[in-house]
Amino acid sequence: MIRRFLTNFFQGRNGFDNIARAAWWVLLVFLLLSLIPGWFGFVCEFVVLALTVYIWWRVCSKNIYKRSRENAKYLELTAAFRTKFRDFKTRFSMRKDYKFFTCPTCHSILRVPRGKGKVQITCTKCGNRFSGKT
Ligand SMILES: [Zn+2]
Repeated sequence: MIRRFLTNFFQGRNGFDNIARAAWWVLLVFLLLSLIPGWFGFVCEFVVLALTVYIWWRVCSKNIYKRSRENAKYLELTAAFRTKFRDFKTRFSMRKDYKFFTCPTCHSILRVPRGKGKVQITCTKCGNRFSGKT
């Protein structure tokens, strides 16, 4: 019954997209900040309220075409940042076995096994050579 209602309700609606998810995280941050006593917390409460309305409006919007274009634009604008974040996560998970160097010439990231002492690193992209401590 509830399931059917929800399915019908979200039929033809935008749903929880990437922007809604990002807004949700921002909302959680402001929710924590709103615990601060005084005018600052008060302002944060309003931000939480505004974001709640915005997320609902987005999720329930029937103008899917427009919303998905906004979502695509959002993904495009944040692509560089999201790639950086993903790279950071991968590097963090491999930090015990590898050390990462940035090529001074082309700025590409190079992975070198740890514990080899001082080594000569040759960039795989541009062929530049530099030394580093692993
Ligand atoms: Zn290079």
